Amino acid sequence: MPKFKCKDTGMKCNFEVKDDNQEELLTIMNIHAEKTHNVKEPTMWEKFKTAIKK
Ligand SMILES: [Zn+2]
Repeated sequence: MPKFKCKDTGMKCNFEVKDDNQEELLTIMNIHAEKTHNVKEPTMWEKFKTAIKK
């Protein structure tokens, strides 16, 4: 199952999410990234996406 750990992006954050549905995973991550880390730039968002483990 694809999973994402926020600390893998280098953040001091314990947020984790796993979801079989990639679309859903990205949506949850996107909300977290924007709300918690104020992520707006695509380069920063790329970093989040590359931290997804299959
Ligand atoms: Zn986080």
